[in-house]
Amino acid sequence: MIRSLLRRVFSRAPKPKVITFEAHGIARANISPCARRVVEALQANGHAAYVVGGAVRDLLLGKPPKDFDVATNAHPEQVRAAFRRSRIIGRRFRLVHCLCGNETVEVATFRRAHDAENGEGQTDEHGRLLRDNVYGTQPDDAARRDFTINALFYDPATQTIIDYHDGVADLKRKRLRIIGEPEQRYREDPVRMLRAVRFAAAYGLEIEKHTLAPIRSLTHLLQNVPPARLFDEMLKLLLSGHAAQCVARLRREGLHHGLMPLLDVILARPLGERFVTLALNATDVRVLEGKPVSPGFLFAALLWHEVLASSKKLRGDGVAPMPALFQAMDQVLETQTDKLAIPRRYTTDMKDLWALQQRLETRSGKRPFRVLEHPRFRAAYDFLQLRCDSGEAAAELGDWWRRFQHASPHERETMLVREKEPRRRRRRRRTPAVAAESGTSA
Ligand code: ATP
Ligand code: MG
Repeated sequence: MIRSLLRRVFSRAPKPKVITFEAHGIARANISPCARRVVEALQANGHAAYVVGGAVRDLLLGKPPKDFDVATNAHPEQVRAAFRRSRIIGRRFRLVHCLCGNETVEVATFRRAHDAENGEGQTDEHGRLLRDNVYGTQPDDAARRDFTINALFYDPATQTIIDYHDGVADLKRKRLRIIGEPEQRYREDPVRMLRAVRFAAAYGLEIEKHTLAPIRSLTHLLQNVPPARLFDEMLKLLLSGHAAQCVARLRREGLHHGLMPLLDVILARPLGERFVTLALNATDVRVLEGKPVSPGFLFAALLWHEVLASSKKLRGDGVAPMPALFQAMDQVLETQTDKLAIPRRYTTDMKDLWALQQRLETRSGKRPFRVLEHPRFRAAYDFLQLRCDSGEAAAELGDWWRRFQHASPHERETMLVREKEPRRRRRRRRTPAVAAESGTSA
């Protein structure tokens, strides 16, 4: 403890590179007005304050940042005092949310990771950090971050970037490099392995050799991460606009085992793999076009083939089709939730979509009209289309629903009649040979 303190006091503070506007080209006008106001208010009160993390990285890559975070040496109460419309959030590590209109900027006080070597650490038996909540200096704050490209501080006042770990050079070289000793950093927080895959796929970066090397042997550590945290990170990955590539990379590194226990099984089946790939590609297209994506739809797609397999097994055991489907849905969600806690608001959507697939099979009577009015019809139809495209459902079924939904009320009636007739005729002429055949197509 004392040794660690002495080391911190006497060790020379690392000298960062200070990169000027001429070299990086990011003008303060690129920073959101709210983040600028927050930084100005803090600086006017004598504190250090910078835009930090993902926003600086995204601006350097020429991408619009999702949000702006600010890091400062001011403590939460001091931030509160400097910026009137703000509130303190979080219990273990307190952050401040500063509000302007409908924009929120998150302000965090510089912090450092616990020093595990000196008995100060709060880690589990695998080295996972359980606490990360001690105030620190700016260099401490840079060092606790995950990758060099995420540890950049931008000062709108001087338009300079403060770079302790050569993140700007790494970005230029399209290189993803972890800060510190790779294995220790993954042990502290195994989610960093998923983040590595996501950043590499989403930004077209190469994972630097030492950063990549330990991942394969540490994939099991994902088992110790709380399922809700895994879900959040997995959702970010799936909504990154590069989900197909991310999932391919997860598989290559062996990281998919710990995430979605059922994904291994599904991807091992050709039809399942084709379906998941189509669903991920469709999601990527939507994200890149700026259209909304429903997480329920995505997870329903990822797990569909497992639902199919379970329900087929139950039917083989003599359970009727509809109860078999419902039991299968529950089984699949139960197995999944241990590893990746899919929140209930999404599982409700998923169940709706799955149940509607069965209802879309009927093309006679009143049912198609009721299905058409279901609030989730559109999503269920898109889901069916993916099933048809992957070869799992008959193309003709998807085609029928495409025509049926756009048809006039009169045309719809005629479509139904035509569907019904051949069936009746077949039933009348039923012979043992035909009966056996229809048994296999069920
Ligand atoms: P994006 O929001 O685009 O997914 P981001 O880099 O902003 O990417 P956040 O999860 O918003 O990711 O985190 C903000 C910053 O906090 C990161 O840029 C990084 O500096 C730091 N950070 C986030 N997660 C970790 C982690 N697991 N370990 C260390 N630092 C992290
Ligand atoms: Mg972010």
